[in-house]
Amino acid sequence: MKFRSTRGLEKNVSSANAIINGISKDGGLYVPDEFPKIYDELKNNTNIKYEDLAFKVINEYFTDIDDAELMGAINDAYNDRFDVKVKNNFLELYHGPTCAFKDAALLFLPQVMKRAKKICDVKEDITILTATSGDTGKAALEGFAKVEGFKVVVYYPKNGVSAIQERQMSSQQGDNVKVIGIRGNFDDAQTGVKEIFGDNKFREKLVEKGFVLSSANSINIGRLVPQIVYYFYGYFNLINQGVIKKDELINVVVPTGNFGNILAGYYAKQMGLPIDKFICASNENKVLTDFFETGVYDKKRELVLTESPSMDILVSSNLERLLYEASGRDTEVVSELMKDLNTKGVYEVNEKIRSFVKEFYGNFANTKEVYDAIKEVYERDNYLMDTHTAVAYVVKNKYVKETKDDKPALILSTASPYKFPRSICNALNIDVEGINDFKVLEKLSNETKTEIPSSLSKLETAKVLHDEVWDKSEMRDALLSFLNA
Ligand SMILES: *Cc1c(COP(=O)(O)O)cnc(C)c1O
Repeated sequence: MKFRSTRGLEKNVSSANAIINGISKDGGLYVPDEFPKIYDELKNNTNIKYEDLAFKVINEYFTDIDDAELMGAINDAYNDRFDVKVKNNFLELYHGPTCAFKDAALLFLPQVMKRAKKICDVKEDITILTATSGDTGKAALEGFAKVEGFKVVVYYPKNGVSAIQERQMSSQQGDNVKVIGIRGNFDDAQTGVKEIFGDNKFREKLVEKGFVLSSANSINIGRLVPQIVYYFYGYFNLINQGVIKKDELINVVVPTGNFGNILAGYYAKQMGLPIDKFICASNENKVLTDFFETGVYDKKRELVLTESPSMDILVSSNLERLLYEASGRDTEVVSELMKDLNTKGVYEVNEKIRSFVKEFYGNFANTKEVYDAIKEVYERDNYLMDTHTAVAYVVKNKYVKETKDDKPALILSTASPYKFPRSICNALNIDVEGINDFKVLEKLSNETKTEIPSSLSKLETAKVLHDEVWDKSEMRDALLSFLNA
């Protein structure tokens, strides 16, 4: 399997190179030359273990990593620390160390990067830089901690994350990790990281000292491919539970931010998985809802801070990969659209793309709808959803009401309710005024008789190992200080 850029400059790129490069030289994203149709083979064993299924799917794409190495990467990523469950048609993707679905990709990425680095003969240590509003940072830390040949530096807004998120990061162990608080907001941290990547002089100086910088963001093909796996796994579980018959069409409902998760589902469909509609669920930052309705992608609007913060995004980078397929793999069209987005903040797709993306339905949910849904499902089914999952649940109901399409639907559940306990308590009318986040966890557990995930229950007493705070103008200095460069 080879990879190529959505914008046309690069072709015939090996998987190892695509993973190490992250983004193509022309600014485009790497996409596979083709989609291996393996559903018919896989469906013969619906009881397959997650790790074995992961091997079969990923092995189709990352073909320059040999079998034993790939199985090693998968086991090192997931064994004993990541699990997927299907309950009441919810595909629970949050049974991992950080209690959110990004573990599925970010536990695997470091393992595959380590092997790709060997294949590409990269000798320098790779330092992963990430700016985080809370979730991605911790997932990157968990994934890269103690992985040989890598360091990871996470910048977060000192007063812009929850106490739980902060403690998750500040208690991270491993000699190769560093967590840095920034006096500024998330945008400042993200802008700072982008400036470091854009500062060629600074980067050259680091290379001379033996340090190469890279990122772990969600456009890396090494993050996308492992996400295809759980669509197959979820579908097979629905068969095993008797919810659907083999080959029966289902819809999938995905709470969407950067469009990585839902795109992985689209890739699964190209591999033969019987998915009909993709229901794309947004919060009040409903750029994608508007796009699927009108064909116009317009990022020129205020970012709304919602209770599903991991979906507070105005530019969904992975949509570019869908546009590539929808345009009939027309790299000129994709390049033009992305240029419009960069220069004007808006683009409009042609008729061909518009009719192609009809298998996607977009809608959104506001905070009140999310709260009501969390309460309703808890009281009716005794099932707790987090705020992101609740966005998906609300949008699914809107879809069914509008279209009368009541096919079985798999709802992707992306975070543990314990990751956002204050919001859940608010939704359930549990009074948490004036008590700290850790106590909120306990109260939610007592009131709902559900268990706090162990990685979160240990946090209150976890030792703080990282407490440096730097000014937003000092992000380079903080990095040099950690690297001793
Ligand atoms: C990142 C994230 C999302 C959005 O996923 P994308 O792949 O960016 O669309 C949804 N829910 C949670 C909890 C997340 O952390």
